[in-house]
Amino acid sequence: MNQETFDYVIIGAGSAGCVLANRLSVESRYSVLLLEAGGSERHPFVSAPAGFLKTFANPQFNWCFKTAASPSTGNREILFPRGRVLGGSSSINGHLYVRGQRQDYDSWAQAGNLGWSYDDVLPYFRKSENRAGGDPAFRGVGGPAHVSDIHERHPLCEAFVDGVEALGVPRNPDYNGATQEGVAYYQRTIRNGRRHGAAHAYLRPAMRRANLQVASNACVQRLEIIEGRCTGVHYRRYGRLLFAAARRCVILSAGAIGSPQLLQVSGIGPGAVLQNIGVPLVHDLPGVGENFRDHYAVRVAHRVTKPVTLNERARGLRLGWEIGKWLFSGRGLLAFSPAHVAVFLRSEAHLETPDLQFVFTPASYSDGVTGKLQPFPGMTAGVWQMRPESRGYVRATSANPDVPPIIQPNYLDSSDDQRAVVSGLRWCRRFLQTAPLVPYRGDETVPGIEVATNDALLDYARARGATVYHAMGTCRMGSDTYAVVDRELRLHGIDNLRVVDASVMPAMPSANTNAATLMIAEKGADMILSAR
Ligand SMILES: Cc1cc2nc3c(=O)[nH]c(=O)nc-3n(C[C@H](O)[C@H](O)[C@H](O)COP(=O)(O)OP(=O)(O)OC[C@H]3O[C@@H](n4cnc5c(N)ncnc54)[C@H](O)[C@@H]3O)c2cc1C
Repeated sequence: MNQETFDYVIIGAGSAGCVLANRLSVESRYSVLLLEAGGSERHPFVSAPAGFLKTFANPQFNWCFKTAASPSTGNREILFPRGRVLGGSSSINGHLYVRGQRQDYDSWAQAGNLGWSYDDVLPYFRKSENRAGGDPAFRGVGGPAHVSDIHERHPLCEAFVDGVEALGVPRNPDYNGATQEGVAYYQRTIRNGRRHGAAHAYLRPAMRRANLQVASNACVQRLEIIEGRCTGVHYRRYGRLLFAAARRCVILSAGAIGSPQLLQVSGIGPGAVLQNIGVPLVHDLPGVGENFRDHYAVRVAHRVTKPVTLNERARGLRLGWEIGKWLFSGRGLLAFSPAHVAVFLRSEAHLETPDLQFVFTPASYSDGVTGKLQPFPGMTAGVWQMRPESRGYVRATSANPDVPPIIQPNYLDSSDDQRAVVSGLRWCRRFLQTAPLVPYRGDETVPGIEVATNDALLDYARARGATVYHAMGTCRMGSDTYAVVDRELRLHGIDNLRVVDASVMPAMPSANTNAATLMIAEKGADMILSAR
């Protein structure tokens, strides 16, 4: 067997894996191998922020999973993108930089994960980012991940913000600062009009180091466990089966789908799941793949009566002009992320903090879901419940890691999530009915004004909602029976193995999950380097 030995072997060059590759290889005495199933992120669809629409169903960059059919969402199989490329999901994501609320991380610590309170994790959020001009108590300058403001305030967005403010929602100068609540333009991981994902921010600058080896197109098949210790990983590259041994530690950063699947096919997980796929039990860990949570978005869209929306700018000669503009100045249509304006709001006055997150875009999509822009002017407001109660799972269906696992999200299973989503749809309508939008507003296209009762709105949400791509929790941190890693991100019961990615989050942050994943990996790198 072809074998090489490294101090650290990292599986997955996603948001977390890129951070780890950079931070661990800073120490030149350690050799680091980073294995990634996908290929290079150097492509205009990845680099142009609006290229998002070209990657989220494209197998060149994406695993293109589908969820299992679920009765709570009309038994549909929902497209479930995950990055399969250097940078992982940060190379195909929507760029929005949202950290969440103090209470999110305090709840992680209160659940027994000492060291993960907001005050503990804030230094790692600050360390990871480069954002000039923010309150230094919260924001970081000089970190690898560049966080920028929108380059162009669209008149429809300005009217939307004015309207939301007129409803009593305050403008928030920094929703990643002291408080999240309010209306604001989204902050983005975009630099000079180009995507600034984890590959650009962390991996590329480290790739010139002699002690870091990056193997793309290297698909890990299973972990090697000998007498309770992970000694290395088997992977396939260009048709050859190879083995990489790890002297100090194997770090699993294959994301909320890949990490539990790789553990299961390696014999670590719930006994019944392993029995089903015919994998001998190496270590019974019932929580592997459980506790899956994700954000489920629903949308309200309108026609717009004037040709001012992004729909028209994305066609014909105007598109050619926009491409040229982006190539020369990094501005214009192609530099937009898919959402422009954020609202963070409490669906009910008695709630302590916001539970709903909204996105507004001066564009509309066929079928009301992100994808193909409509051939007429349109605008869209979307919403999701930030801390969903509904939980699902990820379970391998075969011992062969190339066979996709079952992803069962159980969206809208919980009555609390159902209530929140109906309330969110009503708020979307309120936002879109405000006076500043009157000069632009045409008919509601989805769900349509005939969808008026709570039951009808819920039915619409079940039939037409979709993931907003924030899977987490499937290798949950904790110390109970269903916990997979401890608070130092070490796998319970197996030595020499850590999980560091979005799967370790014990509960959903009130946020899109990339910023928190970068933070987890920054903190994880410190833990690994200090475990001498
Ligand atoms: C379409 C989309 C839009 C999103 N939009 C936003 C947004 O706007 N803002 C935000 O904050 N978050 C967003 N997210 C979520 C965010 O990007 C993720 O939470 C974050 O990137 C997760 O990081 P990770 O390191 O856990 O996993 P990933 O970044 O997914 O990395 C896992 C890596 O492991 C690799 N891998 C998996 N299995 C194997 C294997 N067997 N062998 C080798 N390699 C393997 C994968 O190919 C991948 O590169 C979005 C995600 C998607 C998919």
